[in-house]
Amino acid sequence: MSETTVEKHTFQAEIQQLLDLVVHSLYTDKEIFLRELISNASDSMEKLRHIEATEKNVHEPTLPLEIHITTDAEAKTLTIADHGIGMTREELVKNLGTIAHSGTKAFLKSVKDSGSTPGNMIGQFGVGFYSAFMVADEVKVHSRSWQADGEPLVWISDGKTGYEIEASPDQSRGVKIVMHLKEELSEYSEETRIKHLIETYSNFVGFPIFLNGARINEVEALWLKNKSEISEDEYKAFYQFACKAFDEPAYRLHFSADAPIAINALIFAPSENPERMGFAKIESGVSLYSKKVLIDAEPKGLLPDWMRFMKGVVDSADLPLNISRETMQDSALIRKIGAVISKRVIKMLEKEAEADPEKYRGFYRKFDRFFKEGIATDYPNRDALAKLLRFESSLTEPGAVCGFADYISRAKEGQESIYYLVGASREQVESSPYVEAFKARGLEVVYFTDAVDEYVVESLGEFSGKKLVSIRHGGVDLEDHAPADGDALSEEQTNALCSFLKEELGDRVTAVASGKRLVDSPVIALVPTDGMSPQMRQMMKAMDENFKDEIKVELEINPRHPLVKKLAEAKDSNPELAKLVALQLLDNSLIAAGLLEDARDTVSRMNTLMEKAMGA
Ligand code: ADP
Repeated sequence: MSETTVEKHTFQAEIQQLLDLVVHSLYTDKEIFLRELISNASDSMEKLRHIEATEKNVHEPTLPLEIHITTDAEAKTLTIADHGIGMTREELVKNLGTIAHSGTKAFLKSVKDSGSTPGNMIGQFGVGFYSAFMVADEVKVHSRSWQADGEPLVWISDGKTGYEIEASPDQSRGVKIVMHLKEELSEYSEETRIKHLIETYSNFVGFPIFLNGARINEVEALWLKNKSEISEDEYKAFYQFACKAFDEPAYRLHFSADAPIAINALIFAPSENPERMGFAKIESGVSLYSKKVLIDAEPKGLLPDWMRFMKGVVDSADLPLNISRETMQDSALIRKIGAVISKRVIKMLEKEAEADPEKYRGFYRKFDRFFKEGIATDYPNRDALAKLLRFESSLTEPGAVCGFADYISRAKEGQESIYYLVGASREQVESSPYVEAFKARGLEVVYFTDAVDEYVVESLGEFSGKKLVSIRHGGVDLEDHAPADGDALSEEQTNALCSFLKEELGDRVTAVASGKRLVDSPVIALVPTDGMSPQMRQMMKAMDENFKDEIKVELEINPRHPLVKKLAEAKDSNPELAKLVALQLLDNSLIAAGLLEDARDTVSRMNTLMEKAMGA
């Protein structure tokens, strides 16, 4: 293509929508465009440094890795230049004219659907460059790729319908963005204004920034500094700039170790969880460095997947600079570093939770799914993660929570199990007949009310040597608990009643036995230990409409309950009524357990019983 050729392009439809949003509604804070562009320049030079480290030849290798910003108040322009990797013609079209990230599309859709503008989240979706159009009515991106055959080009757009690409003969390696500012925003062509912005937003950029020739920032790798030399504000600024975050960090871990591996890590837990707001799965936000050189911004296989919400930097001087992304996943060293970091992070959260339970509780509410995912998928950290779980129980006030450690500290002498019940809500679990026997004996029952909890406790199995036992199941042995006025059926009467019930209920029950659990209820339906819980059944049904599974329960009767005692008499004196009551008792227990599937017989039987009761 000759140097005078001008190539005209129109923006992809999504880009036009995005630009429209960016310019008209998304950002209330226009000044953040500068931070976005500086961050792109910095990323680009990090990439260049990595390319050089892997011994590839780059174009113009002696150019300094610096960011140069110039203002021209007369011409109303602002220019940002770097000597990073630059872009080829194809890259200009792809990177600046289309939306490659599926996350951005999801973001656009959610903004459109909800009509709201979560402006503070835009940076996470890779639309940073377009923020230039908030302040400029024309943007020129001069660019020369690091690759030997790159052409010096300029991309020009007014941010409305499309852009042009033409030759830019003087451009050296990297990118130079020239913005012509909108009339009412010419303040951004003033040196003092820009200086202030750089100091506010970009002090932690890892490359020197010059404004009109004068050096502005101090370059330092904060993670290598001593904790005592870093202020809270510096940590926060680092989190927001280096980790591209818009919220406040909730917690942080800053540590260094020499043996067995040299590690310097600065890791933050955010205070907002975008996955919870319905956005796509987030990418790992902890980048990997070796002696201040970025190896990989999203290293796969470094940290367990559940830790993807954490952000920060891990630097290990033991890592060879030229480690490739492909070999990284198989590297034993990477795995070891990951193991050290994940352990430390969990320990840090455990301590923070102890120090300020209220704060942790708010954090947990937003991030609990990550810990639960970890318990199900990260075997080496399973037990440590279980300490981070929080839940309500029969001994907590409604709305208050505790952890397994609290449970164990309150457990009875010799109690070998942690009892729990899964249900839809505290109210539902609490009113179920399963809980009453445990309450009456002062045994604490954990209430799991999140849809994934059942799966999580099953993966966990035990905590600190104590088995996790669902009280919905048969086979839980409790000591006898006779109420003061408890005159019960004799053993003989009880046995006779049990055989009568088994006979009448037939295949619908696996067994009928008298039990010690019940206090106020006449009977209870117990699910066999290998049986499915109501939650699991619902899930199976949702996945497979033909799912059919005979529910068979074990019926436990309460030999002290007046209704049961009456039934023992009625089976001889009024067998017809006794049969109806037997069937109804089973259905009632299934309703209480959330297991009754077809209530038609139940209702008509109920009517018959009422007629009888009223002497009809
Ligand atoms: P993000 O940086 O989050 O990917 P942007 O919209 O800011 O999204 O930029 C889009 C793409 O354009 C970047 O991913 C990068 O490939 C390219 N790009 C932007 N600025 C530069 C730059 N200064 N040097 C090289 N490439 C750049």
